[in-house]
Amino acid sequence: MTRTHDRRNTALVIGCGIGGPVVAMALQRVGIDATVFEAHEGSAEFVGSFLNTASNGLDALKAIDAHHEVLARGFPTPRMVMWSGSGKRLGEVANGLRLPDGTVSITVERGHLHSALRREALTRGIRIEQGKRLVSAEPSDRGVTARFADGTEAYGDLLIGADGIHSRTRHLVDPAAPSPRYTGQLSLGGRARGTTLPPTPEIFHMIFGRRAFFGYSVRENGDVYWFANMAWDGETTRESLGSVSPAEWKSKLIDLVAEDAGPARDIISATSDELAAFPVYDMPVVPTWHRDSMVIMGDAAHATSPSSGQGVSMAIEDAIVLAKCLRDCDDVAHALATYERLRRKRVERVVAYSARVGSSKTVGTVGRWLRDLMMPLALKLFASPRAHAWLYGYHIDWSERVV
Ligand SMILES: Cc1cc2nc3c(=O)[nH]c(=O)nc-3n(C[C@H](O)[C@H](O)[C@H](O)COP(=O)(O)OP(=O)(O)OC[C@H]3O[C@@H](n4cnc5c(N)ncnc54)[C@H](O)[C@@H]3O)c2cc1C
Repeated sequence: MTRTHDRRNTALVIGCGIGGPVVAMALQRVGIDATVFEAHEGSAEFVGSFLNTASNGLDALKAIDAHHEVLARGFPTPRMVMWSGSGKRLGEVANGLRLPDGTVSITVERGHLHSALRREALTRGIRIEQGKRLVSAEPSDRGVTARFADGTEAYGDLLIGADGIHSRTRHLVDPAAPSPRYTGQLSLGGRARGTTLPPTPEIFHMIFGRRAFFGYSVRENGDVYWFANMAWDGETTRESLGSVSPAEWKSKLIDLVAEDAGPARDIISATSDELAAFPVYDMPVVPTWHRDSMVIMGDAAHATSPSSGQGVSMAIEDAIVLAKCLRDCDDVAHALATYERLRRKRVERVVAYSARVGSSKTVGTVGRWLRDLMMPLALKLFASPRAHAWLYGYHIDWSERVV
């Protein structure tokens, strides 16, 4: 039996990563009092990890005026220049669009992005409870009852799972929900400080190397933000990767990029311990996004691999659209169905696009030859603003009704 109801005064938001604090702030704007429950006790450490936050995600954040500190913590990277491992310039592509007020996509450290959003939510009076790991939830006459690993409970009219790719809420909404899919790649992120490399203002350079993909951007002070993708057989976890020391990662990576043209080798050598490795996952299609008064959003519903640089933006867009649906629809069931209808097609297109981009990064000799031959043409086509419009031109008008 479905147990949705029309009350929507309070919400339990699970997860205080990207989507969690944003949805709580958006709900506040539509008169829903949200409390955010985060599994981790303190702020998580994200050494070496940074994110592209695309113009469409920043645009969505502007809908609730929550973009200022995020923009202040990042630096603009609106362009990407592509190189082959042999040092041939393959072309340039826009990373996002320029918004009417001049805002462009930025690169921001993950820890800074999390803390900017969390601080903004706290400033607006939103309650964030840390050390609360959701273990179960069920509909009740009081709405939804959530139970946490520390034995406590909470009640709300709605429960919103913004608990990331390994979401517990996804399985509470649908016990048969699929699990994340390992892409066969690792992502390593690092920061080299004070190098003498020439700055690359507004540009991320991307090298399709022979055995690894390497991206980097050099700031005015010589600091370099870089990441690498490499094939890695066998599924692994972030924890097990943590047992490999930064020195070992560096030596593995230096070996992988040794034959490639460009500064990858020097940048990796100049990196100290600010280095982290992540297994790369995405999600197969998640058939069920909501049940009763519980709903999932962000990576919990549709994680994309990092290659499109869109996971953050999709979570932010979801948050804003979900709040609008709860504002405009007659009842909760209608609101959740409308949210899914407005979001599913777009996010699934992004997941598929990201998987295609990701698979071009680590290919064999023949694939590499073909890729380097065809890419300049593909990049020329992709350079047109129209080619980007479906991805970056998505704008949410806060005042427009969804129904
Ligand atoms: C290596 C790597 C690089 C990436 N690069 C980019 C990039 O450049 N650009 C981009 O847009 N995206 C990137 N992404 C993707 C991006 O990180 C995610 O899409 C984004 O963080 C999703 O936001 P979210 O709020 O849905 O989930 P998350 O940010 O993962 O937040 C989920 C939160 O829920 C908490 N949580 C989990 N389980 C529970 C529970 N049971 N109870 C309570 N709390 C819980 C977690 O601790 C976490 O704080 C990258 C991802 C990886 C792995």
